Amino acid sequence: MNYSADKNSIWQAALAKIEYSLSRPSFLTWFQETGVKDIQNGIMTLFVPNIFVKEWLQNKYHKNILHVVREMDTDIKDINYVIGKPDADAASTIHKQLTKKRLRSESFSPDGEELITKDALTDPETSLNPRYTFDRFVVGSCNELAHAAAQSVVKNPGTTYNPLFIYGGVGLGKTHLIQAIGNTLIKEKPHYRVRYVPAEKFMGEIVEALRNQTMNDLRGKYRAVDLLIMDDIQFIARTEKMQEEFFHTFNTLYEKNKQIIISSDKPPQAIATLENRLRSRFEGGMIADVGIPDFETRLIILKAKKEQKSYPVSEDILSYIAQNIKTNIRELEGALNKIIVASQLSAAPFDIEQAKKILAAYLNAPKKIISAKKIIKTVCDFYDITERELMNNSRKKDIVRPRQITMYLLRSELKNSFPSIGEKLGGRDHTTVIHSCEKIGQELETNIELKEEIQILKERLFV
Ligand code: ADP
Ligand code: MG
Repeated sequence: MNYSADKNSIWQAALAKIEYSLSRPSFLTWFQETGVKDIQNGIMTLFVPNIFVKEWLQNKYHKNILHVVREMDTDIKDINYVIGKPDADAASTIHKQLTKKRLRSESFSPDGEELITKDALTDPETSLNPRYTFDRFVVGSCNELAHAAAQSVVKNPGTTYNPLFIYGGVGLGKTHLIQAIGNTLIKEKPHYRVRYVPAEKFMGEIVEALRNQTMNDLRGKYRAVDLLIMDDIQFIARTEKMQEEFFHTFNTLYEKNKQIIISSDKPPQAIATLENRLRSRFEGGMIADVGIPDFETRLIILKAKKEQKSYPVSEDILSYIAQNIKTNIRELEGALNKIIVASQLSAAPFDIEQAKKILAAYLNAPKKIISAKKIIKTVCDFYDITERELMNNSRKKDIVRPRQITMYLLRSELKNSFPSIGEKLGGRDHTTVIHSCEKIGQELETNIELKEEIQILKERLFV
């Protein structure tokens, strides 16, 4: 089949779809200057401007790109990325797409890419949000170590705990805590230079700087600070080139005894794609986690939030919320806001029955029953591998390990039979499954890191 006539229109239509699912800055950063080189034997080859974009598209957006392209043309079986410039025709394709979209409102789609959007309060110099302070941070047993480490960094930045590495699940206060350090330091030391950046934004800035040939300025900007706070570093681990860039920045700062603070959704040893030299740097500092708060802490957090909003909400309502929302502080706050808004509309504070009604929709959202599918997806997300890799015959350690853990979880959480576990993981023999489950089970008795990883996985399964 000859696709060359419409290769550009396929790509333009694909871009239109991709654009919908991304924030505007993300779309521009990663898809500007892409174009179709050719389509041969079912493989679409895309031009990308540089290695950073290539790795990011391959590692983060590949599945989505393939999906939308295949909606247009099912003969396309795979996508290849090469560094190069699209020809004039292809370049005008993307140009058309970009100018058309520019006319549209600059709103963002609700796809979790808001990482990049800014709060109106955010300080342009430091990118810190002044709302995130220590006095608004409630300390409980779930986060006391992380909090104490953060306090030490404030007292002795660059010396005691460098880097400070904070990890934990979504909505448990990582961003709040690491920004609180920055906010305190700029207040106490007026000349102290702080820069906060989410890893995804850092990557976007690099691509932008390459495009505008301003890499030196960008490096200068990050290497001239006294404190660098890098949020959600797990994104950087997906691409080698980005890690390299970050590594140099890290070293420059580290050698000058400048403080570095990092957050991630998992501990360094569980980020499979993290380069060893970065991992050992992280492990040389202080690592602390933020966990799920217990009931008492959840209640204290709700009381504190209520005070900040200065609106009366009765104690029994607060305790009802704290009983029912357990694993995410952001959701805790969300539920409280819902009640406050609804009762403001009705012009009188709510009683518990009214509150229960309002929250019903929130709480009765379909309960997440855990299934084999969910276990597989959770493990793959956690270790940053694809389901295909998990199923196939790869003997690479980065794959074998998550595969064994999947088997173990299918057995321990769902009581699946050994043959059916083998079946679910690409048709493996039941003796392999037995061996894997035993191996993980035994190792759990001595290997603390493994224990921790399985604990995190279980928490995520039941969220
Ligand atoms: P993460 O970065 O871990 O996903 P955030 O730091 O964004 O989580 O926290 C989510 C929300 O919960 C924020 O509004 C934050 O202020 C609030 N929050 C988290 N932990 C605490 C805490 N210990 N005390 C008070 N508020 C908290
Ligand atoms: Mg965060």
